[in-house]
Amino acid sequence: MKCLGIESTAHTFGISIIEDKKEIATASHTFTTEEGGMIPMEVQKHHLEFKDKLLKQILDESKLELKDLDLISFSKGPGLPPSLVVGKDFAVKLAKENNVPLIGVNHICAHLEIGRMITKTKDPVFVFVSGANTQIIAHEGGRYRVFGEALSIALGNALDKFGRIIGLGFPAGPKIEQLAKKGQLLDLPYVVKGMDVDFSGIITKAEQLFKKGVKKEDLCFSLQETCFAMLTEVTERALAHCDKNECILIGGVAANQRFCEMLNDMCEDRNAKFYPVPLKYCGDNPIMIAWQGILEYKSTKRLEDLEKVDINPVWRIDEVEATWY
Ligand code: ATP
Repeated sequence: MKCLGIESTAHTFGISIIEDKKEIATASHTFTTEEGGMIPMEVQKHHLEFKDKLLKQILDESKLELKDLDLISFSKGPGLPPSLVVGKDFAVKLAKENNVPLIGVNHICAHLEIGRMITKTKDPVFVFVSGANTQIIAHEGGRYRVFGEALSIALGNALDKFGRIIGLGFPAGPKIEQLAKKGQLLDLPYVVKGMDVDFSGIITKAEQLFKKGVKKEDLCFSLQETCFAMLTEVTERALAHCDKNECILIGGVAANQRFCEMLNDMCEDRNAKFYPVPLKYCGDNPIMIAWQGILEYKSTKRLEDLEKVDINPVWRIDEVEATWY
């Protein structure tokens, strides 16, 4: 089955064509800034500017025509509404013009399922840590259940916010990881409430220390150590509670080597296995949207009504019936 997937929940606009599990062509472009953050209307402008160029690029590369496709899949949510709308409108236009069935999928499910497909895991605990999401998830009783999550700001956004404060530009995560290599540990608030975590106070404290002249390197190291330890603790409890022995880390923050190392150590200690997901599939990417489209279509035959398609910016993972699992 050939499926074209469109990703546009946040900073990345991407299009991919896959045939079952095989990638045929992918093109994407990510909004970045030197200073300031991700301003939704600027991100929308970026996506509108790139969508046609990216489509042409993958059609040229794949030597396919749109009418050769069996399915078009797009990210319906959750995400930034101005970004989601660009992907949805583009997907509807392509589906109508080429008479191809359309399915809208949950972006977080797509992250989880590409992780499971690539690592060939059966039933892992998912540590999903991206810009806008921080959730520890496992599949129980026909649905994905959120066992723990960030109560205020997600970890990626928290790192980006701190990066903005100390002048690192966007995205800050990779730069924080580099600076952390030269830092030493300071005391920052470690906030785990039940199975949930809270990063907002840590960022406030780090900002106060920065203003008092504490070195960026020490703050970056301490921020990483504290936040990753909080999430590792909750992940360990989710593994124990669900009696699972596989763990995968997905989302943009999965690029962080130190975080992978901490999760790997914890898994080794309890005879579970940690599966790193290759970087290409960790962050927002359109391959995962195409794969989720195929999985869901094959399992449910659900399709969008092209006259009523809408986005769902606040679509939670635990609202999705994971019939394909
Ligand atoms: P979502 O999937 O929730 O819509 P998102 O669109 O913001 O999230 P992702 O591409 O999954 O995007 O993740 C981007 C985030 O990952 C950014 O916050 C970025 O700072 C962070 N990030 C990227 N690389 C690293 C790294 N090496 N260490 C820590 N964080 C990182």
